[in-house]
Amino acid sequence: MTDLPDVSLEPIVYLNGEVVPLSEARVPVLDRGFIFGDGIYEVAPLYARASGRLAFRFEHHLARLARSLEKIGIVNPLDNAGWRALIERVTEANEAEAGLAADQDAIAYIQITRGVAKRAHAFPAGIQPTVFVMVTPLTLPGAAQRAAGVRCVSAEDRRWLHCDIKSVSLLGNVLMAQYAAENDALETIQFRDGVLTEGSSSNVWVVKNGVLAAPPRSHKILEGIRYGLIEELAAQCGIRFEVREIAEAEVRAADEILISSATKEVLPVTQLDGKPVGDGKPVGDGKPGAVFAALYAAYQRAKAEQA
Ligand code: PMP
Repeated sequence: MTDLPDVSLEPIVYLNGEVVPLSEARVPVLDRGFIFGDGIYEVAPLYARASGRLAFRFEHHLARLARSLEKIGIVNPLDNAGWRALIERVTEANEAEAGLAADQDAIAYIQITRGVAKRAHAFPAGIQPTVFVMVTPLTLPGAAQRAAGVRCVSAEDRRWLHCDIKSVSLLGNVLMAQYAAENDALETIQFRDGVLTEGSSSNVWVVKNGVLAAPPRSHKILEGIRYGLIEELAAQCGIRFEVREIAEAEVRAADEILISSATKEVLPVTQLDGKPVGDGKPVGDGKPGAVFAALYAAYQRAKAEQA
């Protein structure tokens, strides 16, 4: 006998007031999330720790959820205490019934759509939003992946111009993720008119001569919860940090490229479009750099220190 979780067990999810096994959760086909992609979502890590599960920087996730809802005119169905209680309820149900071990990291997925109505584009009156929550195990990148770094490809950013909204209308990101998958890469790094925007599902950072840089917060990127975090961690580590437009040529000449997201934390990009990423050398050596190492260590400290 082992005490490994039974992976054959289905996740337990929340849908519109009910906590049920995933296969029993049903949404009508006229849900505007299905028909129009008319909804938003959030993805927040729930780290396992000896001192209890940690919803990491959860207030930031809830603030972004509230901003996304406001931008598309959906009234937030819960306050922050309500969201916390709901996530705890679904997490506990998964620990009790779906084999989620207390020492296994997890990820909370929250989706809210405008609700169900006769198909017509403009907002219908008097409908309730659809609220869905799923908590599933999260496997963070391992030491080997951090040591080797990851491969990325690049492409022109052809998405719409409300990338600040965490919209479930993700076709642009899906196509970029597929492009990466077809090219044996983890992410596609996108450029709009020759300027860095972000990855297919991550924020992108570049380092040159020890200075860390990120594109400005704007409608052209999703402000990752790790964006603000890495900004803070850079200050703690004494790493100079600049927010500015970053030309494509600078990315290709960077000493280090990093990507960040809830499921990846922070990872070093060691190959872009088949070429090794620099390290201050004329021909890149394709190894993770010192700024990555410092930020990764600081990230782990932040997890350990958050109460
Ligand atoms: N940009 C995009 C397009 C993303 O999908 C993500 C991941 N949700 C991010 C950035 C990073 O955001 P976070 O750090 O909150 O995961």
